[in-house]
Amino acid sequence: MKKLSLANTPTRIEEIQLMDADLPARLFVKRDDMTGVAVTGNKIRKLEYLLQKALDDGATDVITRGAIQSNHTRATAMVCARLGIKCHVLLQGPRDADEEGNYFLDRLAGADIRIIDEDDGDPDEAMRVWKENLDREGATTMIIPMGGSDGLGCLGYVDCFDEILEQEEEMGVRFDTVVAVAGSGGMLSGLVYGNALSGAKKDIVGISVLHTEKELVDTIIPSLVDEMNKVSGKTVGNYDVTVIDDYVGLGYAKSRPEEMEFIWDFVSQTGIILDPVYTGKAMYGTFSELMDGHWKDKENILFIHSGGAFGWTKKQIEMLLRK
Ligand SMILES: *Cc1c(COP(=O)(O)O)cnc(C)c1O
Repeated sequence: MKKLSLANTPTRIEEIQLMDADLPARLFVKRDDMTGVAVTGNKIRKLEYLLQKALDDGATDVITRGAIQSNHTRATAMVCARLGIKCHVLLQGPRDADEEGNYFLDRLAGADIRIIDEDDGDPDEAMRVWKENLDREGATTMIIPMGGSDGLGCLGYVDCFDEILEQEEEMGVRFDTVVAVAGSGGMLSGLVYGNALSGAKKDIVGISVLHTEKELVDTIIPSLVDEMNKVSGKTVGNYDVTVIDDYVGLGYAKSRPEEMEFIWDFVSQTGIILDPVYTGKAMYGTFSELMDGHWKDKENILFIHSGGAFGWTKKQIEMLLRK
């Protein structure tokens, strides 16, 4: 399937050392935070497919949505700026949020931003109405779902899985386990699909920062696998996945002091930036599972670093400094 070439891939795989911890397995990080600067993170792999489709369909405008500090809307706005597509983003408020981080970058990229609050109704419906209005005025508008997570977007992480298999050959290492953060579940589903198609038989582990294990395993992942079957023309029936929802903590984008403390230790010992919303929680989870002896059978663990550095808002920074 055709896709744009936008990301700096293959992304590096680096083994990390934590000086004050004796990890019971080797821990490697796949640096998908280095897919680009303005487009850092995992969303760009999905957007290579999604915006190829936008161009193929002659789209003049794109609408997408996310949280106020969405990495996905920022990456979409930046790519649209480059492609000459008008980008409209629907952000879930508060309306008086400070213009910083990803929200500021959405604006810098020239995106047309609308903010909605919780009581403003269904945001997907709002995107549909917005599209109708734009199309009535002569635009050809494509809606990209939250997180870029539909069957087409997820193919970006099937490719990432294949990339990992090639890198294993080059490096002479076999990763028995691949760990990814699960937000909307798209990145995880793509990796699961790639694992099933290739017969590589790795443990694919998703650490959730939003949904429950049940939601991901019973509903979200199966429906994304179905969608990938439709768009790829391939068939994955059975697949394996492990989802851990013990590290959602206080909830999406809410941090606990112990997470902040861990992030500080980690960054100061590795020089790799973790973000408070996604990778910080997932790396904290990975580290905890390892140190608590839950992953005794694992030898070589590959953690997908999915980006997120722009998510350090004033509030998050204050909390880190107070910790
Ligand atoms: C969006 C995002 C995720 C989660 O990816 P999903 O495909 O939505 O599960 C993880 N990490 C970062 C930094 C993200 O921006």
